[in-house]
Amino acid sequence: MFVSKNLNVNSEGHLTIGGIDTVALAKEYGTPLYVMDENLVRCHCKSFKESIDKFYGGNGLVCYASKAFACKEMYRIVADEGLGVDVVSSGELYTAMAAGTDPKKICFHGNNKTIDEINMALDYGVGRIIADNIYEMKTLDSLCRESGRTADILLRIKPGVDAHTHNFIRTGQIDSKFGFALETGEAFDAVKFALECKNLNFIGLHCHIGSQILDTQGFEAAAEVMLTFIKKIRDELGTEVRDLNLGGGFGIQYTEQDDPLPYEEFMKAVSIVIHEFCEKNNIPLPFILIEPGRSIAAPAGITLYTVGCKKIIPNIRTYVSIDGGMCDNPRYIMYQAAYDAVVANKASEPKNTTVTIAGKCCESGDLIGENMPLQECEPGDIIAVCATGAYNYSMSSNYNRLQKPAVVFIKDGKSRLAVKRETLEDLIRNDL
Ligand SMILES: *Cc1c(COP(=O)(O)O)cnc(C)c1O
Repeated sequence: MFVSKNLNVNSEGHLTIGGIDTVALAKEYGTPLYVMDENLVRCHCKSFKESIDKFYGGNGLVCYASKAFACKEMYRIVADEGLGVDVVSSGELYTAMAAGTDPKKICFHGNNKTIDEINMALDYGVGRIIADNIYEMKTLDSLCRESGRTADILLRIKPGVDAHTHNFIRTGQIDSKFGFALETGEAFDAVKFALECKNLNFIGLHCHIGSQILDTQGFEAAAEVMLTFIKKIRDELGTEVRDLNLGGGFGIQYTEQDDPLPYEEFMKAVSIVIHEFCEKNNIPLPFILIEPGRSIAAPAGITLYTVGCKKIIPNIRTYVSIDGGMCDNPRYIMYQAAYDAVVANKASEPKNTTVTIAGKCCESGDLIGENMPLQECEPGDIIAVCATGAYNYSMSSNYNRLQKPAVVFIKDGKSRLAVKRETLEDLIRNDL
């Protein structure tokens, strides 16, 4: 009935998340409100971690791609589950460290890390820096030299495999701002360059082929391409590559149309390719890293809103307006992302209407979705939008000077505030 397995309906006909009444949550904390189910986050962390144990004998690390949803509480939870994290900026790195993340388990990504960010990563002792380009390697090498340090680096590779939901394409994929292209020889030259940098310790390769991928073939193809490159490096340069980081991108169910595979299926399919290739070519099994973001956070979250005005335009459509929108969920205006919504206080009623859920910003495109099946609703009703745990809070903005919603975590029947709702005073804090 619901896209996420933690959602249900109670005896009052109210939507529940992790067994907690969402209408009561809206009343207690106000709306718009992000609600994250800690148990489900932990359950996703465990399933990825267990598949590393099962398919690689524990010889690997799951790094949560924290851009999906980042706040101190989330970093604490994933660390407690034994995961590492990906960060792509000083802000994510700072938050991760403030939450007590082990720096050795941090992968630092980004196509344009600033000198300040690189220094910060070196000062914290970040375990892996994913180098994106030659300029970055030169900068990193000289910053290391100046401070008498060395850095462990992986190189970001464009494997020429580009996955989009149900299929993947083998493209040149040269036209991407991330990483080094394989087929032009750029990636091989980058490895040679890395090996020449005295203060850099080249330990591995990284790729990330896309997001919301619902099929295993793209991952299998990418693993094969990356291992072929590892073999070439071994054969031609005499260097064994220790780490193979295969990125994230595992798809989740947003609506009934999506039919994602259990995460273990992805892991299993890829592990078969890796084991076969390594055995056949006498290559030691690399240390495997994966970087799930969306798949850990998205299904665990919902957003609660209060309905305001309703505008019925005869023969055209019905707009139901809510007290949030593109500021807290920009995924519709950015990519027409599809979501499932429920009137939380009428969750046991049938979805008899089809509506457009509109936000309150001064943009016509500020919608949560069009043609959404929904229960009949009135002003004051609570709407829950499902599977909003990833790329909502982390992409939120203050457009129209709206205040960012609070984030509440729930666990074992209890709720607690993890991020306070912004105040009007917060909005002018930095204004002079
Ligand atoms: C965004 C990103 C991820 C996570 O992608 P999801 O689709 O959220 O799993 C992992 N690795 C890198 C390098 C990324 O940029």
